[in-house]
Amino acid sequence: MVMTAARKPLELREVSRPRPSGRQVLIQVAACGVCRTDLHIVDGELDQPKLPLVLGHQIVGRVAELAAEVEALKLGQRVGVPWLGWTDGTCRFCRRGQENLCDHARFTGYTLDGGYAEYTVADERYCLELPERYDDVEAAPLLCAGLIGYRTYRLAGADIEHVGFYGFGAAAHLVAQVAVFEGRKVYAFTRPGDTAGQEFARKLGAVWAGGSDESPPEELDAALIFAPVGALIPVALAATAKGGVVVSGGIHMSDIPSFPYRLLWEERSVRSVANLTRADGQAFMRIAARAPLAVSATPFRLEEANSALERLRRGELDGAAVLLLAA
Ligand SMILES: [Zn+2]
Ligand SMILES: [Zn+2]
Repeated sequence: MVMTAARKPLELREVSRPRPSGRQVLIQVAACGVCRTDLHIVDGELDQPKLPLVLGHQIVGRVAELAAEVEALKLGQRVGVPWLGWTDGTCRFCRRGQENLCDHARFTGYTLDGGYAEYTVADERYCLELPERYDDVEAAPLLCAGLIGYRTYRLAGADIEHVGFYGFGAAAHLVAQVAVFEGRKVYAFTRPGDTAGQEFARKLGAVWAGGSDESPPEELDAALIFAPVGALIPVALAATAKGGVVVSGGIHMSDIPSFPYRLLWEERSVRSVANLTRADGQAFMRIAARAPLAVSATPFRLEEANSALERLRRGELDGAAVLLLAA
């Protein structure tokens, strides 16, 4: 499925199979997750895509061909391909271990072609091993929702007990289970009136679930925001205890309204999360191998990508949408 311009539906097209070079492998795609970031690209809110573009940065597939310089990956091996597709390794951010902020990073399904296709290529150094306990459809949402969600959660600090999730979709449903696994108390905030979403959160271990317009029964040590709604920042700050942190996990958000300083006072902080490092990906996959995460994923056929994106936009999905390729 090919994006030719912003704000136009993706087109189903026959394209030639990409050729791997250098340290790239050719991957036969088995499943590819659909992410809110894909919607931001289609809507033109992220406005630097390569065009035409194959979207998709939560790719599960099997290695089908090795280019000449490949060292580690083997033919037939199952791999995951996340958002971070390449970094220069030399800029000031890469040199200090912040490759997620690399000045020249390339991103899968944005500045590199991604996985809304039968085949894709990826640099072996940025591919991830996937825990065997998850099948292809279950593994796909781990690759962005799971691991960028995990980075968001980790940036909230190690000592948090009460953690709130604003927007309980693909990312929150996975990371909330990690938080429960680590003994923390989870508070889930959904769109007001979304009782099905609140029930879903309770089933996954939330001690409390309600609308984003409600106050939780305990002050939060951290609030993680996974909905692209800037107005949630002051709302989350108001629900946060002294010294608490509000972390925004999304790549794009509507404007944040002004708010009184007293919401930030007492050492509360607000920060964002950008991209991932390979170390984040490996750390999250180690946790996902130990914690039996229940992955809620709705499968779609590749040619249904536009309707998967529409249903994500309308908030109709519990958990994640995944394109499933015919074997
Ligand atoms: Zn760099
Ligand atoms: Zn994503």
